[in-house]
Amino acid sequence: MRRLAKAIDGLDEPAVEKISKEQRGNPFHVLIATMLSAQTRDQVTHEASTRLFRVAGTPRAMAALTERRIEMLIYPVSFYRNKAEHVRETCRQLVARHGGKVPETMEALLTLPGVGRKTANLVLIEAHGSDENICVDTHVHRISNRLGWVRTKTPDETEQALYRAVARRWWPLVNRYLVTWGQNVCRPVYPLCGTCVLADLCPRMGVTRVGRAKAAQVL
Ligand code: SF4
Repeated sequence: MRRLAKAIDGLDEPAVEKISKEQRGNPFHVLIATMLSAQTRDQVTHEASTRLFRVAGTPRAMAALTERRIEMLIYPVSFYRNKAEHVRETCRQLVARHGGKVPETMEALLTLPGVGRKTANLVLIEAHGSDENICVDTHVHRISNRLGWVRTKTPDETEQALYRAVARRWWPLVNRYLVTWGQNVCRPVYPLCGTCVLADLCPRMGVTRVGRAKAAQVL
């Protein structure tokens, strides 16, 4: 993790972390951006979130938009129709059940439509400053298995295994570091093992082919 901390310096941060910084950890914006980010490229998530927040920056304002309007604002994020429905219903529930605030517990967050453990963990870390959660998405799942930190089949299993494998002080940073690494070096296909700062520590579990970095990509 120390090596990664140095290596990611200067690389583009994942979309939700970037939005969290820009919005000073506004829990509502972190929640909505995370909901939009699933299976969507970072740049698209960032642009869609910015468009949506410009029109409606609070749960009350967003709940007042029609689903169609939300769809149009967040397009082209993946599954924009489902996400628009979940976003609107989540906003409605935040207003009706939580006084317009984003809940601070995993249990309460999981009751919101479209919110799973990945979203809830990221909201707890980025918006509520929790240091007791690890957020696992496909990058974190893939890379922690390649590194041999865990041997798991699903992101939920990986999350539980990482609580045992990673020193506690790093928990809130696992997502930021591994997602950034996964987008730039330890990519899903053809990871750039030849230029990876972790190469001498990594058993490369499950890696069958590696990619070649262009000179400008060498890290
Ligand atoms: S050595 Fe290869 S598989 Fe291991 S973390 Fe680096 S890029 Fe990923």
